[in-house]
Amino acid sequence: MLAAASSDKDNDNNEYLSEDFEEENSIQICCTWGNDLQDGKLTYNIDDTDSSKEEQDAVRNAIEEWDSKIDPLDLERVSTMTVSDITIEFRDGSEETKRGEEIAGQTTTTFDQYDFLDNARVTILKEPYGYELDTMAIEQVAKHEMGHALGLGHANFDGNLMAQKVNDGTDNISECEIKAVIEANYWKLGSYNRDNTYPSYPEDASVICEDDQ
Ligand SMILES: [Zn+2]
Repeated sequence: MLAAASSDKDNDNNEYLSEDFEEENSIQICCTWGNDLQDGKLTYNIDDTDSSKEEQDAVRNAIEEWDSKIDPLDLERVSTMTVSDITIEFRDGSEETKRGEEIAGQTTTTFDQYDFLDNARVTILKEPYGYELDTMAIEQVAKHEMGHALGLGHANFDGNLMAQKVNDGTDNISECEIKAVIEANYWKLGSYNRDNTYPSYPEDASVICEDDQ
């Protein structure tokens, strides 16, 4: 059941920003996965209709980096969109550019009746600024959007994968994003919670990044 939907358009105004989100370098927590994460696993599908093998591989690399860096989380590729928790698709993006928007990626999430995530749809625009993204840029955008799909908002500082503008960010998944995804889904990914059955919300709305990030 889809009780709500929200959409995060990148390189746009940050709808997550709130007043208590201030000076310290931190990453906002947006959302928490619900029952789909019961078994510690989320499935994803990469739509192959509007993309080359190289572009699909870039997305797969991005997702595999998340998978390998978050021990208790298993991201499993499936071949059909209908059964996947997370879908990644490509669009050429020229229409958005004509309207003056500069969006490289977008993640639309839907929630169950208890406001837990139950689906995320990532769209990667291949020509967000009028020229085609290379595979490295696609991989960076995919990593950033997967951060949203896994429950993150934006970082309030530059030089982080979750920086609001992808151009101000990095392509590296650092300790702070890992900590933030675990915090967002702490009911299942927290170290003492691996046997938990019922989703619950995290205590904090953001995580603070250490200085060495
Ligand atoms: Zn974003």
